[in-house]
Amino acid sequence: MKVCVDLGATNIKSSLIKDGKILRLTSTPTVTTNGLSGIVESLKASIDAFMQEGVRAVCISSAGKIDVATGKVVFATENLPGYTGFDIRTWVWETYRLPCVAVNDGLAALLGEIALTEEYRTKKTVMLTFGSGVGGAYAVNGVLKADESNDFAHFGHLPILENGEPCNCGKRGCAEQYLSGRGINRQAAELGIGKDRIFAEKAKGNERAQELFDKLKTYLIKTLKEIEKTSPFDICILGGGVVDGMGDTFEEFANCDGFDIRKAKAGNAAGMLGAEYLGRNLL
Ligand SMILES: [Zn+2]
Repeated sequence: MKVCVDLGATNIKSSLIKDGKILRLTSTPTVTTNGLSGIVESLKASIDAFMQEGVRAVCISSAGKIDVATGKVVFATENLPGYTGFDIRTWVWETYRLPCVAVNDGLAALLGEIALTEEYRTKKTVMLTFGSGVGGAYAVNGVLKADESNDFAHFGHLPILENGEPCNCGKRGCAEQYLSGRGINRQAAELGIGKDRIFAEKAKGNERAQELFDKLKTYLIKTLKEIEKTSPFDICILGGGVVDGMGDTFEEFANCDGFDIRKAKAGNAAGMLGAEYLGRNLL
């Protein structure tokens, strides 16, 4: 049995997982007002909730850049003040005398899909998460592949449009500017379509929504072609709030130029299931 945690800047979810199945689940707000001590207190409460006889390991999916080899937070934004440099694995050992794995939540999301779908364990898979930003991850035969900086989050910052929108990364025309929830809402607003309404409007037959929908598909294809250059893949898994909001339009969205595109299945539990999967392989 493992306690698995998904630590985000707003909430910490935790669960008790046995043989890949979630037995119990809870969620608690992340206290970020006291710097690291508040975050650690929230983390401890979320683990304590399931600390019982038979727990053998703690598996953590976390926001920020996490070094899987050491279990340390390499970098976290100001959304998690003081978190950069925190040694998750050592803290778990000192607190619970249990082994621990820790992994970035975007990477854990792909591992969560791999945990649920056996086929992905013998394929090259790429995952794109369309949320407030665009996250990415890449795995070969079910094993995360790391580039030099051990970070595939940059898939969202691949350039897809010359002289496009400026991005907070300093470049222009990044995929994130067109395929993130914010990016899509900006483009929709230019066409007079309301916030988060594009897919519903497209389903109703709104021509302007259809136009943007088709444009988004070309942006996805451009992004996938960029990814292919460095990370050849068989299957692309799409997840995140934007994809959840596509409803029945997903099928048409995913029918893209011969790419094999699938919808993520793990939903909110992806991070925890992915961390558990990593624990299965590493612990
Ligand atoms: Zn960018």
